[in-house]
Amino acid sequence: MTIEALAVALLLAVGTLLAPADPPDVDRIFVNGRVWTGDDARPSAEALATSRDKIVAVGSTVEVRALASADTVVVDLHGRRVVPGFNDAHLHFPGPPVNVVDLAGADSLAELQRRMADFAKAHAATRWVIGRGWGYSAFPNGKPDKKYLDAVVSDRPAYISERDGHMGLANSRALAVAGISRATPDPPNGRLVRDVNGEPTGELQESAQDLVDSHIPPSSFDETYAAFKQHMDEAASYGLTSVQNASWSPRDQRLAERAQSEGVLKLRFRFAVPILPKDGGAPEGHVLKTPLTSADIANYRELRDTFKGPMLNHGAIKGFLDGTVDARTAAMFEPYVGGGTGIPFWDQADLNTTVALYDREGFQVLLHAVGDKAIHMALDAYEYAAKTNGTSGRRHRIEHVEVPALADLPRFKQLGVIAVTQPMFASPDATTLGNFAVLLGPARASHADAFRVFDDAGAVQAFGSDWPVFTDEPLAAIYCAVTRMTPAGTPASIQHCT
Ligand SMILES: [Zn+2]
Repeated sequence: MTIEALAVALLLAVGTLLAPADPPDVDRIFVNGRVWTGDDARPSAEALATSRDKIVAVGSTVEVRALASADTVVVDLHGRRVVPGFNDAHLHFPGPPVNVVDLAGADSLAELQRRMADFAKAHAATRWVIGRGWGYSAFPNGKPDKKYLDAVVSDRPAYISERDGHMGLANSRALAVAGISRATPDPPNGRLVRDVNGEPTGELQESAQDLVDSHIPPSSFDETYAAFKQHMDEAASYGLTSVQNASWSPRDQRLAERAQSEGVLKLRFRFAVPILPKDGGAPEGHVLKTPLTSADIANYRELRDTFKGPMLNHGAIKGFLDGTVDARTAAMFEPYVGGGTGIPFWDQADLNTTVALYDREGFQVLLHAVGDKAIHMALDAYEYAAKTNGTSGRRHRIEHVEVPALADLPRFKQLGVIAVTQPMFASPDATTLGNFAVLLGPARASHADAFRVFDDAGAVQAFGSDWPVFTDEPLAAIYCAVTRMTPAGTPASIQHCT
């Protein structure tokens, strides 16, 4: 399917069915394909013609061939499927550095250790060994520990991020470099996991990751730019033509502008900037010290006025209301199996006034909310903003929205809130089945990442990958949403979540 998607990485524009009265310059025609038009009256066609970045005709091979001039490029699709370019509603460019250990899919300790050891051996001069993409199921009893890393990387610091980026595991050298000991207190919005003796295990959750992150030598701008371009190539090869970046920094902006000025942007970007210009996605210590004012967001207004698309676009902001189920930091009404109800990152009153400010200024708000309590808080904030400002049609969103309270589902449609879900989060791999579902218990797990509940409630739902948490290959995600199976085809029986 990837090859098919490759063939169709065209910028989607409104297609015109045959035949235009005044035929435009046709650069390329694609014939002998199976073209999905998205038009109920004529859902399928054999061929299409393009002029620059526009689709100008769709029809039979014979009809479309008739539009070709002497310099038109003709591509024979040999029966391959053609679909519009995909939009990923939530991901994170520029993505990870290229020179790290990919731990995705390492579902046993032996496999994780093998990948780390191989990389360390092959990169003897690298000052830090960095990996990403592990899941809890890779560790005995689901408990990551520095000793497992020390066993394979002991000569230098090593740090590996969990696949959704909310946790990480450091080896003993990395903890020493960061000055972390049993005397180190948990930072605000973070946790140092400790063993029964109070000794840090090396697992760092949420903001505690900064203690180690701040010591990792940063990639240079040119290295990051090279990674950014490589990741754009990968995304384009999957058929993505536009993406909504759920994060942003001034450095990201410089990367994107450089790519645009060099004419190598392969995707259209819409960025979401941090909800607190100084503090990021949530207030430190859960309480906003000073309310945000209109003057504080002048820079965001300027970005919005400057970048109106089509290639670079601003106008969205992003906040975090909680963490993840896997780390038990998603904010829940009822305790997890094993205890705890997570950490709401915001006070409701602060959230309401902050969201209302952005709503009044005409921004689209994205709130990361995974647990039922956080989702409820997000909906309350959007309701407050609409009532206070008398606004509507802002297309505010809740990101991930994994474990909604069933009673809250009708509010999405009522408030016009978009549910931005991630099909790959439902992939029934060992971590999902052995950690995520177990922590929720059967009642909540039965409607977690059950995408149909939003459709049934009449909500607008948008799929995103949350790449690099998971692959940004849309067809892999659609496969997962439809089959509820892993890429390996397990479990054999289809899982019904509702
Ligand atoms: Zn994300």
